[in-house]
Amino acid sequence: MPLDEYRKKRDFTKTPEPDGSAPARPRRTKDELFFSVQKHLASHLHYDLRLEWNGVLLSWAIPKGPSIDPRDKRLAMQTEDHPFDYGTFEGVIPEGYGAGIVMLWDRGTWTPESPDVDAALRKGDMKFRLNGYKLKGSWALVRTRGYPGGGSGSKPSWLLIKHKDEWAGPLDIAEFAPLSVKTPNADFADILAADNPAVWTSNPPAKTGDTGKLFQRIIAQAVAMKAEGKRQKAKSPRS
Ligand code: MN
Repeated sequence: MPLDEYRKKRDFTKTPEPDGSAPARPRRTKDELFFSVQKHLASHLHYDLRLEWNGVLLSWAIPKGPSIDPRDKRLAMQTEDHPFDYGTFEGVIPEGYGAGIVMLWDRGTWTPESPDVDAALRKGDMKFRLNGYKLKGSWALVRTRGYPGGGSGSKPSWLLIKHKDEWAGPLDIAEFAPLSVKTPNADFADILAADNPAVWTSNPPAKTGDTGKLFQRIIAQAVAMKAEGKRQKAKSPRS
C-alpha cells in the first residue's frame, strides 16, 4: 500500500500530522493536481516538495530548497508518499519522526509537461509546470544514481531544476519569500507560539550547530510571543 511507510514512521497518538485515514482524493484532471512545499525545521532545515499523483503526494526533501535560478541544480531526496491531506499541514511535530516545525511555504497546482507521468517517473526525467504563489513556470526533476539512504528500501536522489522562462531569475526565492502562505506573515516562531512554545525548552530537535542555534532563537521568540499575547489579553477590557 502506498502509505504504509508513511504510517510506519509515525505514532499518531503523539503527532498532529494526518494519519492517512482520509479517503484517497479522487483522480484529478491534469490541470487540477495539487502541489505544495513545506518548509520543515527538524534536525536540519529543509523544504519538502509534494506533488499530487494517484491520490497521494509524491514527496522529495530538498535541503537547500527550490531555486528559481536555472543554473542551480537542487538535490531532492525522494521520501515516502504522503497522504493527500498532509499537503496543507502546518504545525508543530513535538517528538518522533520529523520532530520540529512545519510551515506551508508554497501551494498551488501543477501540470505535467511529460506526456506520461508514470513513465517519466520510472525513467527519472519528469518535466512539469508549477502554479503556486512563489514557484511558477516550467521545472524538471531528474533522477541521479544516488540512493542517500543506502538500504534496499531507500528512495533515490533527484535534482530539481528550473527551466529558463519568464519565471526564472537570479533571485534567492527562499530568502526573498520566507514566510507561510497559510497563516499570513507567519514565521516558524509564530507557528510555534500558536501551539506549545515551551515544548522543547529542555530537549529541542536539534541541539548543536546552526540548526541548534536557530531552534534556541525560535523557541525563545515563541515563548516571548505567547507571554506577550497573554499580557495583551489580560489588559484588554471585557466587551
Ligand atoms: Mn520533512
